[in-house]
Amino acid sequence: MESPLANIVTATVTIDASALAHNIAQVKQCAPHSKIVTVLKANGYGHGIERIAKMLPEQADMIGVARACEAIQLREAGIKQPILLMEGFFTEQDLAHVVTYDLHTAISTPEQLEMLLSANLSQAINVWLKVDTGMHRLGIDATNFDAAFTQLQQSNNVADDIVVMTHFASADIASGASAQAQLQQFEHLVEGKQTALSLANSAAVVAWPQAHQDWVRPGVMLYGVNPMTTEKSLSPTLRPVMTLQASLISKRLISAGETVGYGDTWTAKQDTYIGVVAVGYGDGYPRHAESGTPVLINDRIVPLVGRVSMDMITIDLGPDSSDNVGDIVTLWGNGLPIEDVAECASTIAYELLCNIASRVKVIER
Ligand SMILES: *Cc1c(COP(=O)(O)O)cnc(C)c1O
Repeated sequence: MESPLANIVTATVTIDASALAHNIAQVKQCAPHSKIVTVLKANGYGHGIERIAKMLPEQADMIGVARACEAIQLREAGIKQPILLMEGFFTEQDLAHVVTYDLHTAISTPEQLEMLLSANLSQAINVWLKVDTGMHRLGIDATNFDAAFTQLQQSNNVADDIVVMTHFASADIASGASAQAQLQQFEHLVEGKQTALSLANSAAVVAWPQAHQDWVRPGVMLYGVNPMTTEKSLSPTLRPVMTLQASLISKRLISAGETVGYGDTWTAKQDTYIGVVAVGYGDGYPRHAESGTPVLINDRIVPLVGRVSMDMITIDLGPDSSDNVGDIVTLWGNGLPIEDVAECASTIAYELLCNIASRVKVIER
């Protein structure tokens, strides 16, 4: 008989190209008249930036990244689509890269504006002027917006067709006052300007149709995460692009009153089978996941118990377990929404996705 260890898999993610295509089609259905900036920053939200870029279907009109290094990585991998630096450039060298690698760039601070206006570029670049409408993170102050817009229009360094953009603080709360106020402020600022507009992250794609305008900028929903924190049912049905799995590598019977794992934080209330799964915080599974965090094995949900270790977690298989060493365990993805896991770890799905470690094996499907 083959050893049950023959089929063991350590932490592995499956990346599902058809799910990505499905989710992008959902974006298109939500915002049929807008072009799409597919947001691939932070290594494609942990899915692999080059991998996701190569999987993008035609509706992806542009790719959005945060840093110049991400854009350069894509260009060097042969990606030809337009790429937008959503945070803009930070150094003279970054600005030179914008020209060399044919990037679009946001202008989000007075320093960036000044650097661009005083530069001597060999060709005009495509600029997205970001205005602060209430998030108070990046973006030119509303009071300086008109002047900045005019300066950019008059600059030889700037191509025609400036896009004006802003970013919401709370678009994930449907009909919330914060996003409503930002929307009104934005509409007031751009009134009478013949220029393309962009406001919507995933949550605004779903919940704020007035914000769709010329370009939407979905990130997390591309990967199959529901972007809403209230009224989640507003979101179209999305499919998880990433499924994280690992094998059961051990199973033991413990008695009522015995503890499991570092710090003895969990005590069995009854005699039960404890399973050990080959995934831990060294793979990106969150160390703060509490006892009770859902884990999927053989079509049922069982609780994580005890502390998450670097390379392993322990789960309570129950007294009647017929699970076997070698069985596949799903930590999130198909069959187990990552949002549910994130909640049990006091974090958000974005962070779990971004934290997938480089040692995790990747399978494309
Ligand atoms: C990250 C980012 C997005 C995408 O946000 P999601 O919530 O993931 O959809 C859109 N716009 C900007 C400027 C961003 O930085």
